[in-house]
Amino acid sequence: MSRGSIFNELESQVQCYARSFPKTLSKAKGAEIWDVNGNRYLDFLAGAGSLNYGHNNPFLKKALLDFIAQDGITHSLDLHTKAKEEFLTTMRDNILAPRNLDYVIQFTGPTGTNAVEAALKLARKVTGRTNVISFTNGFHGVSAGALAATGNKHHRGGAGMPLHGTSFCPFDGYLDDSFDTIKYLDTLIQDNSSGLDLPAAVIVETIQGEGGLNTARVEWLQRLQKLCRKHEILLIVDDIQAGCGRTGTFFSFEKSGIVPDIVTLSKSLSGYGLPLSIVLFKRELDVWKPGEHNGTFRGNNHAFVTATAMLKEYWSDLTFSKNVELKSRHLSMRLEEIKTSFNHIIKETRGRGMMRGICFYDPAMAQDVVSKVFTKGLIIERAGPNDEVIKCLMPLTITIEQLNEGLDILENAILECLHEKMPLAAE
Ligand SMILES: *Cc1c(COP(=O)(O)O)cnc(C)c1O
Repeated sequence: MSRGSIFNELESQVQCYARSFPKTLSKAKGAEIWDVNGNRYLDFLAGAGSLNYGHNNPFLKKALLDFIAQDGITHSLDLHTKAKEEFLTTMRDNILAPRNLDYVIQFTGPTGTNAVEAALKLARKVTGRTNVISFTNGFHGVSAGALAATGNKHHRGGAGMPLHGTSFCPFDGYLDDSFDTIKYLDTLIQDNSSGLDLPAAVIVETIQGEGGLNTARVEWLQRLQKLCRKHEILLIVDDIQAGCGRTGTFFSFEKSGIVPDIVTLSKSLSGYGLPLSIVLFKRELDVWKPGEHNGTFRGNNHAFVTATAMLKEYWSDLTFSKNVELKSRHLSMRLEEIKTSFNHIIKETRGRGMMRGICFYDPAMAQDVVSKVFTKGLIIERAGPNDEVIKCLMPLTITIEQLNEGLDILENAILECLHEKMPLAAE
């Protein structure tokens, strides 16, 4: 942010991403962004995972432009519209039916945290219990209910009030590998004197997006589901960041074979960066009374139009999914190579699918690298409790050339940062 800019003058200190990337951006296409001075950047942040299908995706853009040109209805509360009808039909035909998922869909307010609030409310209403289990390093949004389920101290500190109704449990791999976090939870639930109230639900991310790309093992997720069924606890998968194709399948939990009771989707659901959030849940859980959970912006028809186009273009068959799988293997291989080259500063690679990153021992190093790559034309962000993980979240539609270009920038920047830190050791 240059001194005297309108951003400094008028925009609150709460600004976040703009601090890492202090340029005024004006144009974007696919995996590329340009600033007002015509500088080009590769986008490995992709709206924190809201742009899985790239900026201004041509198929989605055409559908939206046609819709607007025909005076298609933009705002409609939750009234039935043609755009919503097509979105629901395509969700059923391309996503739910092929996966044997008998879910109903609730449209919530437009942001991810709105979907999480609705999911938690529903779980509490269905079970008549209040407590919810969430996991260390989980991130579920910043409105009060979702924030109570979020681990991050910095975000929790912003609440300004006590955050109630949740108990935290160690995520898979949080403690050393000999510690069985499912057994721990099972024991707490069964013990009358553990101090843990029987929860309404467990809310979990299969890969913790903001929490540092901690990845739950398939077997752990299966055991978590079993535990939930045993104690009649609802299993909520927050698939807001890991869903919508990010891991190569539409939902991130497909490979594990689990069927969550409730699923939240947002970020890349519209495919176009337009706000759209939904909660999917098993039909028998639909205990809402009409209008009981409401909201003015639950019918973003522009987002319905682009979401429908996305589902038709990319999820009619397995072509796209296989393509993402190939790219993710390439990404994994390259990150492993980077880790091997810089073993002494990189602790490990993390993640799954096209949601991977590298964890540095020293958070300051991760910060230096992110600043450095920006000067070389790459936008990428960090995650984890101390922002020690550099997270690759590029559009799934990125070309292999662009993917390699961005990773080359990342690799070179790490080397340069090392030279600057240890000029003698570098020779
Ligand atoms: C981003 C995110 C949210 C919150 O979404 P907002 O649109 O920022 O409210 C919730 N859960 C997960 C897993 C997320 O990544």
